[in-house]
Amino acid sequence: MSMEATKSPRDLLEIALESGRLHIGEVALGRDFTLRHVADVGRDDLIRHFDPVAAREIARYDAEGKFRPLKTAPNLKRGWLLDVGSIEGMELALEFLYPSALGLWLSWIKGTLHPTSMRETLNRQSGMYRITQLLTVGQAGELVGRCCTSEGGCLRTLLWDLEPGVPVPSLPSEKLSLDALPSDRIPLICRELCNLVVAAARPIARGNLPKKE
Ligand code: SF4
Repeated sequence: MSMEATKSPRDLLEIALESGRLHIGEVALGRDFTLRHVADVGRDDLIRHFDPVAAREIARYDAEGKFRPLKTAPNLKRGWLLDVGSIEGMELALEFLYPSALGLWLSWIKGTLHPTSMRETLNRQSGMYRITQLLTVGQAGELVGRCCTSEGGCLRTLLWDLEPGVPVPSLPSEKLSLDALPSDRIPLICRELCNLVVAAARPIARGNLPKKE
């Protein structure tokens, strides 16, 4: 079956394994249904887990024990090996490690992804985040460049614009398109601005309020 004809994330994962796409984010996949940190490939002292649900705890905290609010941040801890025994187990483990990654990739392949621009996402904010609508394009570009960079920010590829037709100016082109996706990679796609960046936009936007006399 071709990727285009794939109907489910599980089938897509199966094809990915067969075709040698054995990396996703910081995780290396094995055709024997194993998963481990890419930096741990070749180690034989890893703590082995057979239940894919163990991935939930692995993904929850970084190496210092701090909670990871963003599962695609490049701070996945090391030292573990998931040996889950089946494609179903691998799909479930990946859902804990990188939520929705396979589903988003499938939507992109099918042409049904429909990314939402940052401006559209901010414009639909309500309550305490409504103020983020005051963010300027320049501030938005700076914020996204800082929060979404793969260097300490997030490993996803952003497929949305700042405003319709206005691409993000502060990130390299390979971070904004899947055109140059290496043939051994399963992509991590960002379809729209996440809540963490919306929250980070709030104090910046507050600074744009007119000063009281
Ligand atoms: S907006 Fe997307 S790319 Fe940026 S930090 Fe959030 S999930 Fe990652």
